[in-house]
Amino acid sequence: MRVALHVPLHKFFDYSLPEAITARIGDRVAVRFGAQQKIGIVIEERTQAAVAVERIKPIIALRDDAPRLPPDWIALMRFLSGYYQRPLGETMVAALPPRLRSTKPLPRKALEQDGQAFGARFIPNHRLNSAQAAVLERIPNGFGTFLLHGVTGSGKTEVYLHLVARTLQRGLQALVLVPEISLTPQLEARFRAAFPDARLALMHSALEDVARTSAWLAAARGEAGIVLGTRLAVLAPMPRLGVVVVDEEHDASFKQQEGLRYSARDAAVYRAKLAGCPVILGTATPSLESWHNWMLGRYEKLELAERAAAGAVLPSVSTVDVREDSPQQGLCARTVSAIATRLERGEQSLVFINRRGYAPVLACEACGWTAGCERCTARMVLHAADRRLRCHHCGAEAAIAGNCPTCGNVDLKPMGRGTQRVEETLAALFAGARIVRIDRDSARRRADLVRTLENIRQGEGDILVGTQLLAKGHDFPSLTLVAVLNADTALVSTDYRAPERLFAVLAQVAGRAGRRERPGEVLVQTRYPRHPLFAALTRHDFAGFAKAQLEERRAAGFPPFVFEAALRAEAPRLETAMAFLKTMAGAVVAPEEVRVFDPVPHVLTRRANFERAQVIVQSPSRPALQQYLTALSEQLFENAPRQVRWHLDVDPIEFD
Ligand code: ADP
Ligand code: ZN
Ligand code: ZN
Repeated sequence: MRVALHVPLHKFFDYSLPEAITARIGDRVAVRFGAQQKIGIVIEERTQAAVAVERIKPIIALRDDAPRLPPDWIALMRFLSGYYQRPLGETMVAALPPRLRSTKPLPRKALEQDGQAFGARFIPNHRLNSAQAAVLERIPNGFGTFLLHGVTGSGKTEVYLHLVARTLQRGLQALVLVPEISLTPQLEARFRAAFPDARLALMHSALEDVARTSAWLAAARGEAGIVLGTRLAVLAPMPRLGVVVVDEEHDASFKQQEGLRYSARDAAVYRAKLAGCPVILGTATPSLESWHNWMLGRYEKLELAERAAAGAVLPSVSTVDVREDSPQQGLCARTVSAIATRLERGEQSLVFINRRGYAPVLACEACGWTAGCERCTARMVLHAADRRLRCHHCGAEAAIAGNCPTCGNVDLKPMGRGTQRVEETLAALFAGARIVRIDRDSARRRADLVRTLENIRQGEGDILVGTQLLAKGHDFPSLTLVAVLNADTALVSTDYRAPERLFAVLAQVAGRAGRRERPGEVLVQTRYPRHPLFAALTRHDFAGFAKAQLEERRAAGFPPFVFEAALRAEAPRLETAMAFLKTMAGAVVAPEEVRVFDPVPHVLTRRANFERAQVIVQSPSRPALQQYLTALSEQLFENAPRQVRWHLDVDPIEFD
């Protein structure tokens, strides 16, 4: 028997099968590995072993407390392991919930079955409007990838519910992936209310072991009609999978940032293909990858252009020019007066601070010039420590210029400093107003955050101040104003994905305003009021924005027009990491269509006493890139020195 184990370097090991044990492909087995016992998964039945017969150890025990892993699950694991360049054993074992990786028996509580039937009773909230019904009709029972582009509040979730109902009625299971389930209890509540008899397995990483194990078992046994969860839910076996939904498909949280660096969205598409069922990628702001896939004819696009609730319309979006209405402590006069109006009317305002950790860029405040790379179209990142500019794309370096090459201004500054004191400013301006701040710091405890969000929904709080956390999926009925500060840092970012993210987050946050009868207003403070991104946002024109962005990406040779991977290394000394990257990348002959750039240090070079650097690899051909990565990965697994930590990131989306 060939068994996949989670151990470094090697992928498989052969064990013999004692007569008393009836293990088959897909079974979990306990085996001896060195001095330890480990859980492995049988992946092949063989009559010949790779080592001499007398050296083969026997399988110790079959672990049949969980169902045998089905062939399509193993096929998914083989695909992920090959595509993301991690050993199959690690991929498979790490995809199991922690309790199933352990040699200890499963907790008895997790094994209890609640005997609930596979109920398909459906209580819809609404009859679908004609646009929603048309979308539903276009989705077949067989495989197909559908990009559901629906503006915020257009009733996408309602479509998902009807799709799930259709699936349950056919006796099949539905998989629904969302970015953050623990922050949006309303979504779970909506599913539970719509399907009172179905077993719903909730899956996310904040669940405790027992709950996680029992949800996984319910999915794997085919008992759970609905699996609702974050990216890891895409790895759960589902023997009767009938539909896959990926809500907010553009969301970066679908990409795992450690171990097997998979994209749950891409894995979902592959899974649906294996299962022969449809997959729906829903969003108001598609990722440019998905949009491009639609343009290439790989995905079919379905549109919901209007808000579904009676009387609800999209908010009006306008820019406030900070060069004319110069901000006091971060706030323009027009913003302040708009907030005052909401206070008088007893409506809520949201002050949204776009505070992603963007890399600093050298900019001229007088004319708007920013330091760009001469070798490629990327912006240069300012490394304050050694006062150098570096292109994180190609590795080019330059000294910091003394004055602006366009206007001669000698006062060049790093751009990207934040608006930190907004909360205090607001408190001083609006004495007596209830101000609620929500960001990663104030929301350390999930339970508190959920309560705060619910309170806001009930109308508590007059002015909300928050970051990205507030943009997602919440429905605040009395919110009618959104003011956006600091949008510009994304416009001059070194990360070519920054405009795409900015558009998405602004469309999301704008989508929080005016979800009911009262119309919403969005004000964006900027020094680039004529930027095409804002023009498109104002017109709610995602298609126009996507077209312009894709043209830029094509001209610059960025994804989705090329495929990318990053090899990253960490070592106590930067020279070690840089030399490692050079040697490793250089040791493998790149096919003609593959470009291997020079190693570059990260902006935050040092983290936890390790210096970090990376090499970007690009190719217009996916097979050529994969061929190179496979060879590179073999080289790394075999020859990487111990003092360097490294990983490969295929289709990376975060670079710092
Ligand atoms: P999305 O997921 O696109 O943001 P939702 O499904 O949450 O949209 O719907 C937005 C709002 O519109 C919700 O309040 C929902 O109850 C309402 N809604 C959805 N579909 C309909 C419909 N067919 N008729 C009336 N209201 C609807
Ligand atoms: Zn200038
Ligand atoms: Zn460059």
